[in-house]
Amino acid sequence: MAAKRRFQTVKGMRDLLQGEASAFAYVEETARRVFRLYGYDEVRTPVIEATELFVRGVGQGSEIVGKQMYTFDDKGGRSLTLRPESTAAVARAYLQHGMGSAWPEPVRIFYMGPHFRYERPQAGRYRQFGQIGAELIGDPGPYSDVELLLMLLGFLSELGLANPRVGLNSVGDAECRRLYSSRLREYLAPYRDELDADSQRRLDENPLRILDTKAPGERKLLEGAPRLRDVLGGPAREHFQAICEELDRAGVDFDIDDRLVRGLDYYTRTVFEITSSVLGAQNAVLGGGRYDGLIADLGGPSVPGIGFAIGEDRLVDLISPERKRKAFGEQPVQVIPVRASHRRDGLRVAQELRSAGFAAICEFDARRPLKVGLRKAGRRRCRWVVLLGEDELAAGTVVLRDFENSTQETIPRADLAAALEARTASHDGT
Ligand code: AMP
Repeated sequence: MAAKRRFQTVKGMRDLLQGEASAFAYVEETARRVFRLYGYDEVRTPVIEATELFVRGVGQGSEIVGKQMYTFDDKGGRSLTLRPESTAAVARAYLQHGMGSAWPEPVRIFYMGPHFRYERPQAGRYRQFGQIGAELIGDPGPYSDVELLLMLLGFLSELGLANPRVGLNSVGDAECRRLYSSRLREYLAPYRDELDADSQRRLDENPLRILDTKAPGERKLLEGAPRLRDVLGGPAREHFQAICEELDRAGVDFDIDDRLVRGLDYYTRTVFEITSSVLGAQNAVLGGGRYDGLIADLGGPSVPGIGFAIGEDRLVDLISPERKRKAFGEQPVQVIPVRASHRRDGLRVAQELRSAGFAAICEFDARRPLKVGLRKAGRRRCRWVVLLGEDELAAGTVVLRDFENSTQETIPRADLAAALEARTASHDGT
């Protein structure tokens, strides 16, 4: 006989239950509200795209394309991939729908939803994770860079995350990067044997990526390495300087981080990352930058762009429990018919409360609704319980019990919603 199988979530994936799902909804609603203030429109692209889009867009040399994609052939023999990120997908949509001419430029877009990477799971790193991102396509900056960063910081501040640690760098234009890559390769070549296998491979394929190594020995080696900043060409340097000046003027705290290069191949000039020590090893909450060559790499015209992607799972971990609780208000009002024969009245009172805008749950236990209802109200941590007894129903009243202040009073049923309104408002101090 086959053993009974208990199904579990797939490795690296998780269920978001109750408070967690609500916290995701809270950050998503906040993002919608803040991003719209800056004129961004929400788009939803499919979760599945042609594999080639990411290979061309994100880059063959990137960790994502090299190791982390969920790629499969569909029944028609097409190679498809679960999106590991969305910038390439947004760029694809930009070209497919001719947004460059059909929409006023620059095009401002945001998105949110699940993304997939086959990575080794650990705290803060999942194989399915949420990203919220925004892209501004069609302006070479630097004011667009600054505005995008201000929007991002405004969003974090709305979530109670003021003064985050912002790391900023410029990886220059393609030409600066070629020059820098060859200088870094020259510098590191004599130390090849001291590098680990990954860094040795990067030395051949994409030496820039060695800059964000975590290995202490390699970090030490890099202290004497040439700096990207010193090889930036005039236009890239001026662009970066302008951003730094405007951010200073706007009172934004940021660190110039010479080693920040980011893992995706499409970045040009501006790159940034926000980290939090609270998150431990996987401490990047979000990352972004400019990608002036991406649209052309995908077969389109030469159109510049800049954007960011926030890791929703990590962001939610940084929000205080009080704020998450507050965002979702109180538990529903628990309506309890004292006897089973009063359930019909319970059904109606709960409906009346909902019509007045209060969440309500009625206890329909057929035998002991009072006992069962009170127990559940306790477990749900309801503040308000409405009791419907024989005498109250006859008199057209209800008993309103306030668990927070351990008080109760009898009030006319018709006044219930107004009474709750008044008590909730005075409790909030509004
Ligand atoms: P990236 O697209 O690699 O620049 O990632 C942007 C942000 O997405 C990161 O800063 C993380 O917060 C988040 N992120 C990336 N990969 C994962 C993952 N496997 N699990 C959870 N969050 C992730």
